[in-house]
Amino acid sequence: MIVMMVVFSSTLLISTGLVFALIRTDAGRLWAGGHLVLSAGGLALTINAATVHLVEVGAVAVMVYLAGKLTIYCGVRVHQGLPGFTRMQGAAVVVTVAAALDALTGPHPVLQLHRVAYVALALLSLTTILVLLRSRVRHSEIGLPLVLLASAVQLCAQLYGASAAWQADNAISASPFNAANLTHDATYNAVVVLAPLVATLLGLFGFTVMALEQVIANKERGARIDGLTGLLNRAALDNAASRLIVSALRNRQAVACLVIDVDHFKQVNDRSGHRAGDAVLQAIAEALDNSRRASDVAGRYGGEEFCVLCPHTDEHQATALARRILRKVRAIPLPGPAGKFASVSIGVAQLRDDGSDSVGLWQQLFGNADRALYEAKRRGRDRYVLASTLEREEAIAAAAEMERASASDSAMASVMDADAQSDPALAADLPGDTR
Ligand code: GH3
Ligand code: MG
Ligand code: MG
Repeated sequence: MIVMMVVFSSTLLISTGLVFALIRTDAGRLWAGGHLVLSAGGLALTINAATVHLVEVGAVAVMVYLAGKLTIYCGVRVHQGLPGFTRMQGAAVVVTVAAALDALTGPHPVLQLHRVAYVALALLSLTTILVLLRSRVRHSEIGLPLVLLASAVQLCAQLYGASAAWQADNAISASPFNAANLTHDATYNAVVVLAPLVATLLGLFGFTVMALEQVIANKERGARIDGLTGLLNRAALDNAASRLIVSALRNRQAVACLVIDVDHFKQVNDRSGHRAGDAVLQAIAEALDNSRRASDVAGRYGGEEFCVLCPHTDEHQATALARRILRKVRAIPLPGPAGKFASVSIGVAQLRDDGSDSVGLWQQLFGNADRALYEAKRRGRDRYVLASTLEREEAIAAAAEMERASASDSAMASVMDADAQSDPALAADLPGDTR
């Protein structure tokens, strides 16, 4: 009894502090609040068992204890992205309260309360375990495995307690959970009384760690994700690009890069305001995100500029993605007069290994795609241009320019030659003249 009082008093104090510490996280608030309620119920139950032995007080304490467990379970559901409280749980609460009231008015109320409480507790532990098992445990996380272990210990103890309550055929004392009610068996005391206490402490610690891990994960996410569009921000994109390039070089695989800029976006802001402009940016980001493959990395590079990196993809394969993006963006209506739609210009480039480090290669890859993007703007927007095509065209133009220059040089030389022949004084100054 004293051990139980000490444990429940400790968890009451700890969870009171945790309520304030975890108030900002939805799941953490429910876990801390649930442990607070559970500890209050457990303490009341223990004090009742040690002093007045009133069955009604015991029944209320059991209900409080169960309410705490249910709150913790709701926190687990919220943590897994499920609705916290469902109609099914509401129905289970009604059935449990009705069964407890029925137990109080029937023969052997303590024994009946034991049965109701243990069945409800075992169901809560089982559903908690099942909901927790839905999530993938990352190897750096320790909170979830601890909570799973604590819930498994509790489930075993509750099943053992339930079977003991079912096998017992009379009840003497007035408090449920009082081991002395049923038997003085040492195994019973260890399994039904001590193990759940240890599991409660372990669970409280595990839930606290889980809440802190969630806070840290959210902070990390906030540092990587662009608040407006939900895509990677520039710093995260730079990191991802360097990693991707290192892996592509190691495995001798292609990487393509698309740099995307919204066309005439300033006009959208000027005509309809920044909020409307933000909504267009969000819709375009969503179109990009829906167009890419799972292995592609999409980010917002700056104001209305985006970038998609495609591993295992060369420049020509990336044109399929560019065409898909152009098509999806053309379907996004612009605010203001009906019938106007968004458009983007895209530059596409492919990684070329020139021996530079990954940061240098990334800058070069992005720079090539960016140059192609500006060519797409120059050619009228709402289109893509390949960096290799641009380079080929530039090389052809440069060769033509050189040809033109050398043609005009030789034309000039022949003109001067002709002049020299008609003017001997000038001919004396001509280079290469050996006379
Ligand atoms: P171009 O076709 O040549 O790209 O023309 P543009 O108007 O899109 O390009 P410009 O660089 O002149 O204008 C970009 C505009 O994007 C200006 C800036 O106010 C707007 N912008 C940048 N970031 C945001 C943002 O987060 N929200 C909104 N609403 N507008 C933004
Ligand atoms: Mg721009
Ligand atoms: Mg623009």
